Amino acid sequence: MLNLIIFGPPGAGKGTQSEKIIDRYQLVHIATGDLLRAERKAGTVLGNEANEYISRGELVPDSVVVGMVRNFMSSHAGAGGFIFDGFPRTIPQAEALDAMLLEFNTAISAVLGLEVVEDELVKRLMLRGQTSGRVDDQDEDTIRNRFREYQNKTLPLQGYYSEQGKYQSVQGIGEIDEIFTNLCACIDTVKS
Ligand code: UDP
Ligand code: MG
Repeated sequence: MLNLIIFGPPGAGKGTQSEKIIDRYQLVHIATGDLLRAERKAGTVLGNEANEYISRGELVPDSVVVGMVRNFMSSHAGAGGFIFDGFPRTIPQAEALDAMLLEFNTAISAVLGLEVVEDELVKRLMLRGQTSGRVDDQDEDTIRNRFREYQNKTLPLQGYYSEQGKYQSVQGIGEIDEIFTNLCACIDTVKS
């Protein structure tokens, strides 16, 4: 199995590049942000609870997200591999993911980190907010809070996966196809 994590701050292009990667490598895309928004749209209890955190630019509690990922993976048992987009976002989530993958007799193959500076990210998110309808993309304070959460809770994962020898960083500014080519070069080094 090829299991990838696409890593990076909000607005780095994780979703865009994931779509291209799943096509080329026949992976199943698991984007926890999308799953949470689908829950909210469906009006579930989980969705409504999660929305309180999302609208403030805070992280949804680990237990909620981990449970959602577990359900998703169980319902895609035949998958040849997964790309995790926007998950894990904390060290406890990463530990839970490692344990879960072990249960499925597999592991993370590589973590691909998209490098984009904060000013560029704010620009991209504000622009996305004009068309995405996402409340958390509309307001600069909420966006800045998402970056704070990222810095404090998510960035330590770089160290976590570097220690496992799995972290690779890729320049996230430039042409979409050029970034994709660089990501593929990283993936091809770990693909058996
Ligand atoms: N979120 C979360 N945990 C996740 C995924 C999403 O807490 O695993 C919440 C969090 O509030 C985040 C929001 O959903 O700010 C949007 O996340 P998404 O990954 O869709 O957007 P991105 O940060 O990549 O722009
Ligand atoms: Mg995304």
